[in-house]
This record gives sequence, structure tokens and C-alpha cells, in this order.
Amino acid sequence: TGNGDDTEDNQIIAGTAPGFEPFEMTRDGELVGFDIDHLEAVVEETDYELVEWEEYEFDSLIPALENERIDVIAAAMTITEEREESIAFSDPYYSADQSVLVETGAGFEPESLEDLEGSQVGAQSGTTGEGIVQDELIDEGLIEDDDYTSYDNYVYAIQDLERGLIDAIIIDEPVGNSFQDDHEVEVAFTYETDEQYGLGIRQGDDDLQAALNEGIAAVEESSEYDEITQEWFGE
Ligand code: GLN
Repeated sequence: TGNGDDTEDNQIIAGTAPGFEPFEMTRDGELVGFDIDHLEAVVEETDYELVEWEEYEFDSLIPALENERIDVIAAAMTITEEREESIAFSDPYYSADQSVLVETGAGFEPESLEDLEGSQVGAQSGTTGEGIVQDELIDEGLIEDDDYTSYDNYVYAIQDLERGLIDAIIIDEPVGNSFQDDHEVEVAFTYETDEQYGLGIRQGDDDLQAALNEGIAAVEESSEYDEITQEWFGE
């Protein structure tokens, strides 16, 4: 049987999707980032014990949660109505907008989604960024289906952008800003979405949900939230 049964003895396994700096990434072979420190601090406030981190592609996290291979998702995951049809979320712990990333010096400087008309666009599979490509670019007739490339991980999209294989990437703004610091890419403009990140849990895991919400509040009220933010965003 799945590890999810362990929620009964208060041991939980967390799942995340590295390659989404500074929320979760691999550094010197180690999983690090805002979400890692934040969830660990949150669980520390509860009667639960976080025994393991499992790594998945972003679009495999919800299936892994549903199949009880993991008990909580900490992956900068936006709380959406569509996701709430299959899983539950904690209270929000971070807000973010989307951004449009382009290659530095490529001469392409879009200022709005309309300016992406006819361009080659990339995003990560299963993300809200991909939802924007579908709803605001493809459905609006600004680009064709095959102008869009869906990547398993944003890291591959960044590589293609730097090679000039695609023109733009739609990605959460804090992550776009972070990639801008260490790659030949830059945020062309911000697209306001005011997304709220939540920890994903199974529907019906009410005790875990209540505990995580109390932990999130405790971490925010203490100095810990600011310390973790400072550590990963230098703010
Ligand atoms: N916040 C975005 C979403 O929920 C992207 C998350 C991610 O790629 N890790 O879809």
C-alpha cells in the first residue's frame, strides 16, 4: 500500500519538482529552495513528521498525491478551481504573477500578450503558464497550436530560448526573475495574475490540512517567514 497510509502515524512524505528556482532546485546534488525550507518550518510547528522529499515532474505531482506516493505537494503550486476538483490546498503562503521571458539581445521585446502574435512560445506542462498560452494565445488566435512547445521542465524551455529555438516563455514571475540572474534571458514584461500558492494535499485529509494551516500561520507570525524569504529572494 502507498506511503499515504503513513499520514495515520503522522509521518508524511513531500513531493516537489526541482528546476523552479528559487522555490525548488538541485544544488550540489541537494534539493534546496524556498519551498523546502518553508514546508520544513511549517511541519516543525505540527505533530507531523516530514520523513522524505520525493522529486517528480510538475505534472506528475497531483497523480503522485492521488496515488498516495506522497502526502503533500510543495511546488509553488497555484491554488486553482480546476485543481480543487481533484485535490485540496492549504491556505495560501505566497503570491505571484506571470512573466514573459525572452532571450537577452535577441531583439524581441514584447510588451503585451498581443505582441506574442505569431511567435514560438514555451511553458512547462500542467502549469498555469501553459493555461495562459492555451486561453490567451491559442484560443485568441494569436498563435497556432504548433507554435507552442510544452516542456516537462522549465529548465529545458530556458535552454531552447537561449538557443533561439523559441521566442518566449511564460513562467511565474519570481522564477523568471531568478532565471534572468543566471541565464541569457530577461523578463520582457509581467502579466498580472495574482496567483496564490498553496500546499497540495488529498481531499479528506482534514487533520493534515488543519495542521498545515496552523503551521503556515505560525511561521508567518514568527520571524521565520521573513528569514526564509530573505535567504532565497534576498528581500
Ligand atoms: N505556479 C505555477 C502553477 O501552479 C507553476 C508551478 C511550477 O511550475 N512549479 O502552475
